[in-house]
Amino acid sequence: MNPLIYVGIILGVFTIIFLIAFLLIKDKKEAFGFDRNMKDSDIVKRLFKYAKNYKKSFIIVFLIMAFTIAADLVLPLITGAITSILQQEGGFEYGEILNCLLLYIALLLLSIGCMYVQAMILQKTGQKIISSMREELFTHIEKLSANQLNHIPVGKLVTRVANDTNAVSMMFTNLFVNLVKNICLVLGYVVAMLIVNVKLALLVLVFVPFILLFTYIFRKFSRKAYRKVKNYTTDINTFLSENLSGIKVTQIFNQEDRKLKEFSEKNNGLSKSKQGQIGVFSIFRPTVYMLYVLNLLLLFWLAGTSILDNITFANQVITVEVLVIFYQYIGSFFTPVQNLAEQFNWLQSAFASSEKIFTILDMVPEVVDEEGAIELDSVKGEIEFKDVWFAYIENEWILKGVSFKINAKETVALVGSTGSGKTTILSLLVRNYDIQKGQILIDGIDIRRIKISSLRKHFGQMLQDVFIFSGTIRSNIVLREENISDEEIIRACEYVNAMHFINKMENGLDEEVRERGNNFSAGQRQLISFARTIVHKPEVMILDEATANIDTETEVLIQDSLEKMMNIGTMIIVAHRLSTIQHADNIIVLSHGEILEQGNHQELLKQKGHYYKLYQIQYQKDQLK
Ligand code: ATP
Ligand code: MG
Repeated sequence: MNPLIYVGIILGVFTIIFLIAFLLIKDKKEAFGFDRNMKDSDIVKRLFKYAKNYKKSFIIVFLIMAFTIAADLVLPLITGAITSILQQEGGFEYGEILNCLLLYIALLLLSIGCMYVQAMILQKTGQKIISSMREELFTHIEKLSANQLNHIPVGKLVTRVANDTNAVSMMFTNLFVNLVKNICLVLGYVVAMLIVNVKLALLVLVFVPFILLFTYIFRKFSRKAYRKVKNYTTDINTFLSENLSGIKVTQIFNQEDRKLKEFSEKNNGLSKSKQGQIGVFSIFRPTVYMLYVLNLLLLFWLAGTSILDNITFANQVITVEVLVIFYQYIGSFFTPVQNLAEQFNWLQSAFASSEKIFTILDMVPEVVDEEGAIELDSVKGEIEFKDVWFAYIENEWILKGVSFKINAKETVALVGSTGSGKTTILSLLVRNYDIQKGQILIDGIDIRRIKISSLRKHFGQMLQDVFIFSGTIRSNIVLREENISDEEIIRACEYVNAMHFINKMENGLDEEVRERGNNFSAGQRQLISFARTIVHKPEVMILDEATANIDTETEVLIQDSLEKMMNIGTMIIVAHRLSTIQHADNIIVLSHGEILEQGNHQELLKQKGHYYKLYQIQYQKDQLK
């Protein structure tokens, strides 16, 4: 039977199997979508902007590429030529073959050298592009507003900066150039084959529609697999970043097994999805390989019969030279075709990663400088809240018409039950959030008219949960501001009574601080944060007193340093220990986002209202101690 019939049957069977598999996928939209909103062309345009600065490198790369493509096309011709020399009637000249061989080796070596140079240039350029992209992303995340950051899990941001940029980097170092190269190669081979032997070339091209069909179906499957891998990766990163931060709680509550179970589920999910992804490739590659083998068999059958029986294929005599050339061309033709299919797929995933990165880059910070916002050089420290209304979530008012005034250099305390809105008031002052109604004024100027960075420069914030970075005590106090001398640091530390414990440390100010300052006590961390505030000489200080229990000795130190700090400038303090604020100029008592009463300690006690009750309770507690 004519081998063409066998080939036809095999191709037919495979096509049917693939089509059935394709039709069996249930929810196609869910399975095949990439969750993409941006157009490919827009993504490419934006990506090219990053490459713009490296035009020269890319031009060199493409010149080298053109050479390697030419070499790929010419090398089979040389072997063909050698074959025909060998077949010359009446013997052949050794010299001729040697020349051909030397040319072959020279071309090959040159081509390999070029590929090395190309890879080096691309890696260097790609890494540069990606490191600037990572930096841009990080800078942008730093600019995002508190509300936006609250809504994105840290693990997700880590994935964007660490993993997604890698996918994009692959696009610059590998995909983009190889894609162009493979397209050129495929076209080059088609042209070369047509020139060498039209009929045989057509025979090879008959396989192309099948390759396209298989590739199309393969792409759909691999997208699905890829999407799963991606989701699990983000999932695991999110899980890890949260649970490693909270691992102490897990240990205290003996929840290790439960957490391990949760982790195992995600971990298994990731490895299964990876296996799935590899599975898809392991079906696709052999399929293309099968097409290649079929094509070769067909070639040999035709060539063999035509030479042996002196039968021509479609009226063209197939010489041994043509056979040798085609044998190599077919081998080389299928490789770029297969690569193209896979590369288009990776390209899609790189686009998906790019889109995720761009989505973050496109997030406009919610709290931004107004047009014509002013720079605030010096501040007296007069603060006024005028009928301030604020909600984190629309219409769920947390502050309901809060009004108060603080004169320069005064100390004002905010008191109230948990959730009454004290921390919220402090974060509104430095514009972590913008208010919906009313006005917040500093020295009579609406804070929305002041540049955010300029506003924050005048505030020293000591937050409820003190955040200490890894580094040293010194680096935590100066926070990268370089022109702060050691004397200033020491003076600040002495002022806030932090020097006591710092002196006891082996390395003093250079004592190592581990992540989140976990090698320091809560009280010590708080004192470091006080020193950090003082050293930056703010005109207004805001302090959210930690509720954490602090040993009595440190509490006395903190109390003492607070009293000192109250003399520096305007101070707004959220106090849980009423003893802290007895000397405050004004005490504002809050409940559910409204001011119940205000006045100084003595006045409020006389009123016998809410504050009086709070004081009684704490006083009794202290007596019991
Ligand atoms: P505590 O004494 O416990 O520190 P607080 O008076 O400082 O309490 P706030 O932190 O100001 O209380 O919170 C006031 C209210 O706002 C609470 O009911 C809280 O649930 C809500 N809230 C705080 N932060 C957010 C946020 N980022 N998103 C939504 N709601 C929030
Ligand atoms: Mg609070």
